[in-house]
Amino acid sequence: MIYLKTDEEIEMMRQSNLLVGKTLGELAKWIAPGITTLKLDRIAYEFINDNGAKPGFLGYGGFPASICTSVNEVVVHGIPSNQTLRDGDIISIDCGVVLNGFNGDSAFTFTVGEVDPKVEKLLATTREALYKGIEQAVENNRIGHIGNAVQTYCESRGYSVVRELTGHGIGRRLHEDPAVPNYGRRGVGALLKNGMCIAIEPMINLGSKNVVIESDGWTCRTRDRQPSAHFEHTVAIRGERADILSTFDYVDEVLNKDKS
Ligand code: MG
Ligand code: MG
Repeated sequence: MIYLKTDEEIEMMRQSNLLVGKTLGELAKWIAPGITTLKLDRIAYEFINDNGAKPGFLGYGGFPASICTSVNEVVVHGIPSNQTLRDGDIISIDCGVVLNGFNGDSAFTFTVGEVDPKVEKLLATTREALYKGIEQAVENNRIGHIGNAVQTYCESRGYSVVRELTGHGIGRRLHEDPAVPNYGRRGVGALLKNGMCIAIEPMINLGSKNVVIESDGWTCRTRDRQPSAHFEHTVAIRGERADILSTFDYVDEVLNKDKS
């Protein structure tokens, strides 16, 4: 069942997603060679609690942490651990919060130190693919328009699209209907209506599209162990434009400061 949100509810979702964006921005300050993914998880946990919210992932389906930390060949759902980030790694951080009963959900893939330009390009393409999908998230399109835009953009550049995991509706629950695949045909799937809130999250591989789930039951990695990138925004359907509720502004602020 798809729940349409009122304007008031969408504003509450914006607050949840704003905090997710700020949490990712806080984590951006810490990402460097030598830090463990568990330390990043502690920082996220404390930051979210200090801001009067609860981590949306902690305990969700039994997930043991506040964020997913997915390094290199891990696509999504990596569990924070004593793994230390190293120069040349990439790390997708997926973060969710619950604030005033509504979920926020957003993910960003960071570089650690100097990264192979080939991998940097994978990240840039995946981020751009997210916005190609968002452009299609408008009233009277169908879910298939979104996946088709992501798939076409990535495959035409030689990357592959993970099939097993998808974006999703979001609201009072982290995962609501409909599923939002990153592949598909235009005009297929649920009709997009005003008030729908969905998380769009391309998971794009440098090598083949095949993935495996590790024995921990969570960690999803590429079968060929080539790198994978993941970017996610929560958006609301509002007529002729998608309203992006989450934000990378806080991340970009930190990353651009590092550059200058
Ligand atoms: Mg997410
Ligand atoms: Mg999600």
